[in-house]
Amino acid sequence: MKTIGLIGGMSYESTIVYYDLINKMVNERLSGLHSAKMLIESYDFDEIEKEQSSENWENLTKILINSAQKLEKAGADYIAIATNTMHLLADDVQKNISIPLIHIAEAAANYICEKSMNTVVLFGTKYTMTKPFYKDKLINDYNINVIVPNSEQQEVINEIIYKELCVGIINESSRKVLLDIIEDCAKKGAEGVVLGCTELPNIINNANIPIINTTQVHCIEIVNRIIS
Ligand code: GLU
Repeated sequence: MKTIGLIGGMSYESTIVYYDLINKMVNERLSGLHSAKMLIESYDFDEIEKEQSSENWENLTKILINSAQKLEKAGADYIAIATNTMHLLADDVQKNISIPLIHIAEAAANYICEKSMNTVVLFGTKYTMTKPFYKDKLINDYNINVIVPNSEQQEVINEIIYKELCVGIINESSRKVLLDIIEDCAKKGAEGVVLGCTELPNIINNANIPIINTTQVHCIEIVNRIIS
């Protein structure tokens, strides 16, 4: 088994799920007492979020590269960033390490193609929904049509992520709001909803259209790579 180097704590609410899922999937595959070989670099998310909201991406790039290099030196065979948003910096991270980075949007795109969906709606933080790094990968590299919620809906989703999900709050009223937005996007042609924030599957596990759980598909890909 190879070792995964996980960059997490963004937030720890989803890193817990990564730790749990990767270990469970490894155990399902190998049985007995087997569990995953994993190194985790976990941040203080308050520090990260402050840099994000002041759009200090340069500093965040340095932080992530430093972590990825540390994990590589410590013996990781692969790197995974346990958040969709921070894949904004994935190309820079990959350029500065010599082990492969397992990209969350590629895992999501492969799943969408396997399920033969043509058009999906992308849910995530405001950065993921508005910046091109995630959408463009799906559109240009995989020929998937991507729509995003309208700006009012984006604000609501972003608030739920940072104010509730990243601190472990699951509100029934927020679940209903998210499901209503999904329904609205389905009417506009979405055949599936990309839960493009690793905490969103903590509140949505079912909708009126198929969901693409990026945490889960990322973990599946990680396990496929560390166990050959
Ligand atoms: N975990 C979330 C994501 O997948 C949001 C937290 C972050 O800003 O990294 O995008």
